[in-house]
Amino acid sequence: MKKRYTTFVLCAVLFIACATSPTGRRQLMLVSEESAIAASRQAYTEMLKPYAQKGKIDNDPALKDRVDRITGRLIAQAIKMRPETKDWDWSIKIIDDSETVNAWAMAGGKMALYTGLVKKIKPTDDELAQVLGHEIAHALAKHSAEKMSVAMASSIGVVAVGVAADRKGLALTGAALAAALAVQKPNSRAAESEADQIGIELAAKAGYDPHAAVTLWQKMAKVGGKGPPEFLSTHPAPENREKKLAALVPRMMPYYEQKGDRPFYRL
Ligand SMILES: [Zn+2]
Repeated sequence: MKKRYTTFVLCAVLFIACATSPTGRRQLMLVSEESAIAASRQAYTEMLKPYAQKGKIDNDPALKDRVDRITGRLIAQAIKMRPETKDWDWSIKIIDDSETVNAWAMAGGKMALYTGLVKKIKPTDDELAQVLGHEIAHALAKHSAEKMSVAMASSIGVVAVGVAADRKGLALTGAALAAALAVQKPNSRAAESEADQIGIELAAKAGYDPHAAVTLWQKMAKVGGKGPPEFLSTHPAPENREKKLAALVPRMMPYYEQKGDRPFYRL
């Protein structure tokens, strides 16, 4: 409630800096999508660098093939939903870190999946499609630009940006730093609901069973270890997440059951 009020006040003060999300929610947009994309490109390279230096990117060919096949079908649907995203430089990298249960997407379709999610959740293709569809949905709905805007608008955010920069040792400043932090900070529950709705639709249209959206979150909640998986802290559950997803399934079934080959975007 408080967050919604803050967004409202900021929107009222900075009325030109507001946008409307695909589900009709008001979004604070101090950062244009173009600048969020440019900043994310820089942040992406910087965030992957430490893993690349240790040879921890895309080093399981079978997993890489599987993830590219699923992601390629999802991206084809994302482009149908927002045609201008065909010009995005889409990318997904698999980070070899078996302890981290996480995945994220930045503005402009720069994505990452940690092997910990595959190892600990043991997702079926349908469930993996829900994870990746959900991430793509965040990018499509401009949630990274929104999170960057919120961080930059609040003085607490600015201080946090400085502290986190120090802690993470990222050689990034300004918008690129905000882009890197955007994928490490929790989404709002409103943004989560949106990503759930758009993600299940992308996945169904790409030929993945919508029932898997429900089982995915059930599995996610059961992952053991110290504290909740990273994925759950950056993607906090909106109220009744599983129930809401289950309620969407009947509407998604016709997309899923469509005959014929699904379009594919070559990564
Ligand atoms: Zn999310």
